[in-house]
Amino acid sequence: MASNLINYPPPPASKAIERANRETITSIQNLGLQRLLRTSSEKIPFYRRIWQAAGVNISLIKDLKDIINLPIISKKDLEQSLQDYPPFGDYQGDYPCYRIQASAGSTGYPKPIFHTAHDWNIITNFWARRLAAQGVRQGDMVQIAFTYALFIVAFTSTEGALKLGATIIPAGSGAVTSSERQIEIASKWEVTVVGTTGAYALRLADVAERMGYDLKKDFKIRVMFHTAETLTEEMRARIEAKWGCKSYNNYGSVETGAPAWECREQNGMHINEDGYYFEVVDPETKQPLPEGEQGALVITSLFKEAAPVIRYMIGDIATITSEPCKCGCTLRRIVKVAGRLDDMLKFKGVTVYPTSIESVLHRLPEVGDEYCIVIDSIDGQDQVVLRVETIFKGEQLDQLRYKLQQALKAHLGVQIPIEFYSPGELQQELNVDQRIKSRRIVDRRKQ
Ligand SMILES: [Zn+2]
Repeated sequence: MASNLINYPPPPASKAIERANRETITSIQNLGLQRLLRTSSEKIPFYRRIWQAAGVNISLIKDLKDIINLPIISKKDLEQSLQDYPPFGDYQGDYPCYRIQASAGSTGYPKPIFHTAHDWNIITNFWARRLAAQGVRQGDMVQIAFTYALFIVAFTSTEGALKLGATIIPAGSGAVTSSERQIEIASKWEVTVVGTTGAYALRLADVAERMGYDLKKDFKIRVMFHTAETLTEEMRARIEAKWGCKSYNNYGSVETGAPAWECREQNGMHINEDGYYFEVVDPETKQPLPEGEQGALVITSLFKEAAPVIRYMIGDIATITSEPCKCGCTLRRIVKVAGRLDDMLKFKGVTVYPTSIESVLHRLPEVGDEYCIVIDSIDGQDQVVLRVETIFKGEQLDQLRYKLQQALKAHLGVQIPIEFYSPGELQQELNVDQRIKSRRIVDRRKQ
């Protein structure tokens, strides 16, 4: 049973995996793991090196239960490999490379990731699964408003939608097709599905309203699908209320491909467990945590040939559950992505994620969608200032300041100074139209 399901199919054949029992899923994962370890130890110097240094005998790693004996790797290990073995590092492996995509990289140089034709085909199958679960079907007009560049998402989502028989409109991000033109296309060409970041979905709503469009009457958009940024529930609620469509979250990265997706229940993201093995570990001790506990995600891409990740600590803090989902899919779910480890702020002894600040902001209709957090070091002390947009002035503004301060204090347990801007000022400063991902943190401590 398991061995004929280990080809990571697109819909409709993927239904068998999405409904498989735990025993079948585990045996598919075990087969995948054995193949991955065998080929990676033969073809990828990076893993040979790292496993040798850790004193691991790969032949003793028989199944998922033994995986905890492999060392956990992180972004830092890949960056070190790039430095020591330029220009591609030694983690790509001895495979014919079909295409290179790279992570946008918050710190300078892009991180190249090789894909074989097999890798690419499967990642786009996984995208087809996502989009099918989110209601995309044959005949849909799908406008892709992600950046077609080294960043992977625009290409893989495009090919995933094509595999479902949809029509693609490769608009690209606001950097190549202006927001005004995106709106005209979406309305005139009767677009039914839009792929974009959550932040850009809200930006497009603002632009359309300013152009005089009625978001509910002048568009046929049924589904918006997002990835690349954490989508908070409050942001989703805003997108759905404004556009009158369903808004779905997806989880992945250039290094991992397309591991997880939301179903119509919108209660967490199902993991493509035939192709991936997810663990949750304590971010400091790196020891596995029991199911349901929040910790750092560790991902193994079982299907991948070139540049696979094997116990990769991706940097996100989340919780995983195997509780049944009403949609009938048996694949485990990431129920909550709290934020990125890199973005975690320690402020006055309290741990704060930008996404929890965003949740508070999006509950207040008086403030705009854009915000940023400026961190400075003054006399050796970290200082944090929150910048938000509002149309309020004078006494109304004082009231809003008080209300927002109380809400932040209640939700985060810490007082944060606030600076107000007029609508559009932050959008301009943050370069909303041009960016691939939202940059919410301006860290001036290192300057
Ligand atoms: Zn579900």
